[in-house]
Amino acid sequence: MRLSKPSCSMKLIASGKGQTSDNAQKCAGIDKDETEQARILTGGSNMPGDSVTHGADFLLRPSREGRMADNIANMKDPNQNFKTAMDIFHETGVLVQEVDEGQPCLSCRDKCSGFSPHMWRTICNNCKCPREAHDVCHEEFVNVCDRIGFQPSPEPSRHPISKEKTLSAGYSWVPPGLSSEKIEEYFNQLPNNLVPQLGTPGEKYRDRQLILQLPKQDLAAAYCKFLEKDFVKSFDDFVNTRNEMALDIGFVRDHLERDTECKKCSGELCMGELCVVAPKLGEDVSFHPSCFICNVCEELLVDLTYCILDDVLYCERHYAEQTKPRCSACDEVNFFMFTIKNFSL
Ligand SMILES: [Zn+2]
Ligand SMILES: [Zn+2]
Ligand SMILES: [Zn+2]
Ligand SMILES: [Zn+2]
Repeated sequence: MRLSKPSCSMKLIASGKGQTSDNAQKCAGIDKDETEQARILTGGSNMPGDSVTHGADFLLRPSREGRMADNIANMKDPNQNFKTAMDIFHETGVLVQEVDEGQPCLSCRDKCSGFSPHMWRTICNNCKCPREAHDVCHEEFVNVCDRIGFQPSPEPSRHPISKEKTLSAGYSWVPPGLSSEKIEEYFNQLPNNLVPQLGTPGEKYRDRQLILQLPKQDLAAAYCKFLEKDFVKSFDDFVNTRNEMALDIGFVRDHLERDTECKKCSGELCMGELCVVAPKLGEDVSFHPSCFICNVCEELLVDLTYCILDDVLYCERHYAEQTKPRCSACDEVNFFMFTIKNFSL
């Protein structure tokens, strides 16, 4: 059975006995003293992001108001440090550096002066649109293995192509292991506006899909703002099971050895054509390049990164939502629902 989406205010009930945690209060929108909120959010540290206007998306970056209170918070609790994306990378192998602050809103256009992170909701303080309505992007070249914390496949032909080679081919990503003719053949089978050619809408499309399909807060506990201590183990179990059973990176087979059919559309795939393979489904299962999509959002699986559940392809976001509810305010996967059963009022 699929659980319905809870609101974070349910956490107030779930945490029980009239004791509400700081996180539950923040996410439920209960206003506390602002200094106290800033302390929770920043961990009471100076912000390396302060020196950079459009710097990396450091974890737990507070709003500008939050930072003002931060100095006071620092005196209160000097021992808590917050982690940068690089710190998290060293601990978990997951590296996510996104640029959001100050980015224009794609739906309000001129009305928003630029994304300003709300303290606990994933919305903009300026225009109230969701973070993803803004032009959130990556400043750096993104290697999807770094983003999800995977070692490249032992097969050298499936190693991600280096930054230099990819950019010199004129793309922000190309499928590994293909000749330049086959790369063109692969991209020719995709809608033009979805091909990640540098300086085109397709480059933006890929960037956005990385953020949407592989949400950083699903990838490592350190990127979660509202994961309560009691649920860290559940989160880690979720990550381990997913990484072992479900999450993987597909590849393009450049030359089919016999006629076969596409698993998605049941259409023909002829000998000699190229196709996409999801190893977790078996290496003889093939897809048209444009059929390698998430079953829920129906977007092309970004950089061929997929999850599998009951033989169906999903992006990571929608895989996670098949098994866990996601909070619509903070966009984090929710674990407390599994203990609420044991909680009686
Ligand atoms: Zn807006
Ligand atoms: Zn905005
Ligand atoms: Zn197909
Ligand atoms: Zn999806």
